Amino acid sequence: MAYITLNKKHFFNNLNIIAQRSYGKDKIALVLKDNAYGHGLRETAIMAQEYGISKAVVRSYDEAKEIEDFFEYILILVDTPKQCSAKFRYTLNDLHAIKKFPKGTKVELKVNTGMNRNGIEMDELREAFQAIERQGLVLEAVFTHHSSADEDEAVFAEQNENFARVRAETTTLQKEYALSPLRFHSCNSAALFQTENFSEDMARVGIAAYGCLELPQSKEAQKLKPVLSLYAKRISSRRLREGACVGYGASYKAEQECRVSNYDFGYGDGFLRSCSHQYITPESKELLGRISMDNSSFLADDEELLIFNDARVVAKSAGTISYEVLTALKERLPRKLV
Ligand SMILES: *Cc1c(COP(=O)(O)O)cnc(C)c1O
Repeated sequence: MAYITLNKKHFFNNLNIIAQRSYGKDKIALVLKDNAYGHGLRETAIMAQEYGISKAVVRSYDEAKEIEDFFEYILILVDTPKQCSAKFRYTLNDLHAIKKFPKGTKVELKVNTGMNRNGIEMDELREAFQAIERQGLVLEAVFTHHSSADEDEAVFAEQNENFARVRAETTTLQKEYALSPLRFHSCNSAALFQTENFSEDMARVGIAAYGCLELPQSKEAQKLKPVLSLYAKRISSRRLREGACVGYGASYKAEQECRVSNYDFGYGDGFLRSCSHQYITPESKELLGRISMDNSSFLADDEELLIFNDARVVAKSAGTISYEVLTALKERLPRKLV
């Protein structure tokens, strides 16, 4: 079976760089949604705990449950509680959501500062505080999410200004409602690396920790190293005569006699089919023809083949982003720490 390796040294290198930017590892909330961006939820949680990360961000209650023992604080982005856990914090994504949470739930209020995806509107803050009080929820933090920290400086700046207003207004409301001081956070990976003198309570960091942040303007970001590599095992090899074809659609034709091997992974394992015809491995082995469900052929003879060690390269070949390449990798693939 194809398998994944996780390079712990690279992961720790990335966390060191991130901790420098956030002024402490206690300010890092490691984003572990979607099977830790394909790295394996549990495997990544183990490494994060060893490094000393105490905060995590996930999508669902079930994900949080699986890693509950590894962290002190887990922010759940889109779900409602099934059972109590003192460690879990739930996101309020709009005003209606407030009614879905039982009394006493620890919540964080997401505010829309310009992405227009989730979060209450900036002019609904007072209404939200009223509803939260009525429902008896425990509000601990206010946060937002950036749409363009890596793409558009003006949009990034505007969202930052909006969040500063939200911060001022909610601090006033916090005092008015006699709540404990609120925590504030807005940065994803790109935003953290675009922010000098970070001063928020935490940063929600995903792709930078996995070493695939693409931010050419940041020298620090260039020092991040990809954590995940994918290897596949040879199923069979054969000699092709000149003019012989490989795979579905007979779409690769040998220009000269060559030796080809077929490896045990394909789009069924989460390797994007749009890499067909054009992908070349880090060891310069050429992918031949189309990727099948469980098979891919290469101009290679190796027993084991390194398919990729930088999801950004695959993403470029497939016309997508590293996030999609990584999260596509199926959960059943074995993951080994190296
Ligand atoms: C996924 C996600 C992040 C992490 O984004 P990266 O670009 O991977 O750092 C942070 N915050 C929220 C709300 C998210 O959904």
